Amino acid sequence: MKVVYSPRYCEVYSNDPASAPGRIEAICDHLEGRFPFLEPEPAPEADLLLVHSQYHVESIGRDSHLYELASLAAGGALLAARTAFAGEPCFGLIRPPGHHASPSDCWGFCFFNNLAVSLKSLFASGAARTAVILDFDLHFGDGTDNIFCRDPDVPYIHPSDNNADAFLKRAERELKSVGDRDILAISAGFDRGKSDWGNLLDEEDYRRLGEITRDYAVEHCEGRRYALLEGGYNHQVLGRHVLAFLEGFE
Ligand SMILES: [Zn+2]
Repeated sequence: MKVVYSPRYCEVYSNDPASAPGRIEAICDHLEGRFPFLEPEPAPEADLLLVHSQYHVESIGRDSHLYELASLAAGGALLAARTAFAGEPCFGLIRPPGHHASPSDCWGFCFFNNLAVSLKSLFASGAARTAVILDFDLHFGDGTDNIFCRDPDVPYIHPSDNNADAFLKRAERELKSVGDRDILAISAGFDRGKSDWGNLLDEEDYRRLGEITRDYAVEHCEGRRYALLEGGYNHQVLGRHVLAFLEGFE
């Protein structure tokens, strides 16, 4: 199990909660020394253009600091996907998040759709042909859904329930209904956590979610799996929730 991380992900680029000072550090403190870290490069513009319009890439580029960090997050996703496809499970400890970014617009603290860029790049390289996306963030990833909704080879799953056990069972059932895929890609948002905005899943639930997704990938994706950080805003619990998920996922 590898973790993609750059110290630059700690840089603050806006005044939204995803960009809050200390947020990435709160997670890093729990993962450092526990997993080997890989350092990413920024995503080449050609990879961003597999998902986004030239207009969108240029509009993000008007803020050069934001562009540097958003393309580095997308580059982190590329590295996580390639690492996973080569057989090593991987977590992208990246920001800004991406699942509210559509081809030509974005909102909800997102700029480039990191997960979509990473999958489209895998497909373009000929490495993978099919995938399944599980998004367990509290919020529906409308950007990801907009990008893949007409592609039967890339189903998008966003389970929802007000009960933790029922949520986990639903996630497992929906994944299994998809069957065999080349790779499992996860939008890992932790804002459904206890004491976070969704106030539902505790540490044990996240560990179980990691196990469910690992077991699915081992059975149906030849073990190929990666997850990318999306939301999660309570710095007091965020690191423990991410670590618990990764302990189940590895
Ligand atoms: Zn969210």
